[in-house]
Amino acid sequence: MEKDLYKILGVERSASDTDIKRTYRKLAQKYHPDVNRDNPEAEQKFKEVSVAYEILSDKKKRAQYDQFGFAGFSGGGGPGGGGSSGGFGNFDPSNFGGSFSDIFETFFGANAGGGARGGARGGGPRRHGPQPGHDIESSLTLTFEEAVFGIEKELEITKADTCPHCTGKGAEPGTSLISCKECQGTGQVRSIRQTILRTCTKCEGAGQIPEKKCSKCHGQMRTRQKTRITVKIPPGIENGSTIRLRGKGEAGTHNGQHGDLYLHVQIKPHPRFERHGYDIHVNEPIHLLQAVLGDNIQIKTVHGKMKLKIPAGTQNAQVFKVKNYGVPHAQSSAKGDHYVHIQIEIPKKVKRSEKELYEALIKEGKHSNPNSDLFS
Ligand SMILES: [Zn+2]
Ligand SMILES: [Zn+2]
Repeated sequence: MEKDLYKILGVERSASDTDIKRTYRKLAQKYHPDVNRDNPEAEQKFKEVSVAYEILSDKKKRAQYDQFGFAGFSGGGGPGGGGSSGGFGNFDPSNFGGSFSDIFETFFGANAGGGARGGARGGGPRRHGPQPGHDIESSLTLTFEEAVFGIEKELEITKADTCPHCTGKGAEPGTSLISCKECQGTGQVRSIRQTILRTCTKCEGAGQIPEKKCSKCHGQMRTRQKTRITVKIPPGIENGSTIRLRGKGEAGTHNGQHGDLYLHVQIKPHPRFERHGYDIHVNEPIHLLQAVLGDNIQIKTVHGKMKLKIPAGTQNAQVFKVKNYGVPHAQSSAKGDHYVHIQIEIPKKVKRSEKELYEALIKEGKHSNPNSDLFS
């Protein structure tokens, strides 16, 4: 076949943009598949003309072609793979689908077309790449303790998953796939007005449709299913975290990968404990006399009960740190700390006998405050 784009269009190398456009229009009409139904040669011509125009009508691509020929386009690993290095960086070969791939292979060799669409399949005759499944979201509420220590949870998720009846083929078991009549198995259809090829809606570009649709998914390849998923929650997870579970989203079609499941984690507040990262803070009410005289008290931490020494003369709002009694780190054996915030409780009411004792303390102590009736 002809590999010179100017010769394909039949124009001089110096042809103006207008010339190229006019010539292309004429040729596209002449070779258009809609008017050449039984002429495969015309179809091939039409593809060549379309690719030639695609390149020569774009200033940047034309300059590239003029300077390097097709080498200017193949460096990036085929269409779509070139990125910003010029060439086909902005060119979307999916508009051309399989047909573009075919023509591209003719120009650049069999490997060229692979990059853009499902290249991993290895250059087979497939017209349509695998379609990945959607990502989905869900939420999970944990108790304070579950979040501190981590836990394994089982979730029930309803999502589009591979149809078990037809194993995602869309065809009733025992029946086969047949070539799509709408697109003659190419996966692409053309409209009369537009020369651009569109993905066939009947077969979704696969080129093949079930001879008899699967009775369970009606050819959709997927059905809505309830699935149980086990999630391992690491210790120390924070409220509002999102866990990404790869491949636990919706099933793809045409052997496409599953999407991911994003799990938003909420943690129920604890009636006593408050978390700040890996540390736990707690208010501990003690009696006035415990603060004055000192005491050993029993406190509760997430790791269980323990003794805490309250020294004589402890002040209100004084904080005691109990090291390593906080939240375990997920990645190491380290732990946060447990902080006890002392709240001294003043007796709201005292008995007659107690009142006398407090009054005795006033006489005993060397308090003096000229602004006070009691201590004057
Ligand atoms: Zn089709
Ligand atoms: Zn099915």
